[in-house]
Amino acid sequence: MTARILVVDDIPANVRLLEVRLLAEYFEVLTANNGPDAIETCENGKVDVVLLDVMMPDMDGFEVCRRLKSDPATSHIPVVMITALDQVSDRVRGLEAGADDFLTKPVNDLQLMTRVKSLVRLKSLTDELRLRASTTRNIGIEELLSRDFATGDAKPKVLLIDERKSSVERIQKMLRNSAELDVATDPNAGFFQAAETPYECVLISTAFSDFDALRLCSQLRSLDRTRFLPIMLLADEGEESRILRGLELGINDYLIRPIDQHELTARLRTQVRRKRYNDQLRASVAQTIEMAVIDGLTGLHNRRYLDSHLQTLFDRAVARRRPLSVMITDLDRFKSINDTYGHDGGDDVLREFARRLRKNVRGIDLACRFGGEEFVVVMPDTEGAVAEKVAERIRAEIAQAPFAVGKDGKTIEVTVSVGVSSLLKGTDSVAALMKRADLALYEAKSGGRNRVVAKAA
Ligand code: GH3
Ligand code: MG
Ligand code: MG
Repeated sequence: MTARILVVDDIPANVRLLEVRLLAEYFEVLTANNGPDAIETCENGKVDVVLLDVMMPDMDGFEVCRRLKSDPATSHIPVVMITALDQVSDRVRGLEAGADDFLTKPVNDLQLMTRVKSLVRLKSLTDELRLRASTTRNIGIEELLSRDFATGDAKPKVLLIDERKSSVERIQKMLRNSAELDVATDPNAGFFQAAETPYECVLISTAFSDFDALRLCSQLRSLDRTRFLPIMLLADEGEESRILRGLELGINDYLIRPIDQHELTARLRTQVRRKRYNDQLRASVAQTIEMAVIDGLTGLHNRRYLDSHLQTLFDRAVARRRPLSVMITDLDRFKSINDTYGHDGGDDVLREFARRLRKNVRGIDLACRFGGEEFVVVMPDTEGAVAEKVAERIRAEIAQAPFAVGKDGKTIEVTVSVGVSSLLKGTDSVAALMKRADLALYEAKSGGRNRVVAKAA
């Protein structure tokens, strides 16, 4: 993972210290010795994460953070405040200024890398979402990016797996206002609960008397339903090697006891945000895929979808020795509708035709716009004689009531010709099945239109 980290501190030796450690992990490092320089660098450069010292002359870290967070050009850059160990009030002020995370001096290497990597991942998701929001005008993404999780209405649903009563009570108190917290005291029960409920983060204590918390982490990572569920480990001082092992297994973050409320809420917020961004990205990919197989005009599946699924339906019917029928419909004299009422009038007819078609087929039937004014319906588990009746019902439904075109209440008579074919016992193929339906359609046209012709063989 490569990313650009801005280190801000008025003491050159402190800057150098962090710089060396970040460079060793192949991060790109920018530096600043004062607030105004830091802000300028953020405005100009592509900064992915800011590590910000609190104590600086003239403009302190809180003010720098406040300014970065209030400028739309820089508000999405994650800021980590570097505070003195015992300054709880600094963390509260940092949160109020909009800080995303905290590190305490002296900065521990493992913590530094875990936090920076976690925030870099979050930043890359935000960037990806921003890009999509600007190219696709995706309302959901824009809303998500503008939402403030610190004060936002959607409290995250969180599961705590911890058997120690006192620890559970402490965490319940800390998260009272910032999460909807469920608790499992038994690790096995906790595993099933995590798999069955849509949590947005799970907190796992390492302190079980008779159970290895890392086993639970690895189980959660290997199960499909919890693969993307953020895991935060609650560990004790001196458990560094265990935490490292956990990070290798895919836990997302950790906290060392005694747990600081502000750190807990800040880190929880980062994890939940990341999960929500990820979910949104996956949904937007799914939406893009759906758009690729749906016809924009009618909302029916398009030809591409038919091409990829007809073979599957065909193979399934053959394997199960079940019937399968196909119909191809073609609107009669459609060119003259376009000529008389314009292309928009023609589109109105196509939409209304698709609506009537959908109304007359079953949910398991596959109705597609094959192209132009031709539509195909694939009917699994349907004998030829039944398919012919369905086709006749559709033909009648089209002919019996006129179609509205345009906005001024004009209506026109529309008719459709239909060709039907069915799967033959013995050797048959998708191509042959479609060919027979097409020939039947041709016969319906040449026989006078507004009719159904079925081809048995
Ligand atoms: P018939 O099928 O009865 O033989 O006559 P037809 O007039 O329907 O014949 P043909 O298949 O040659 O014409 C189909 C027309 O459909 C031609 C094309 O301009 C029109 N068309 C194709 N796609 C669209 C579309 O998306 N919208 C509109 N409005 N027209 C379309
Ligand atoms: Mg045609
Ligand atoms: Mg036609």
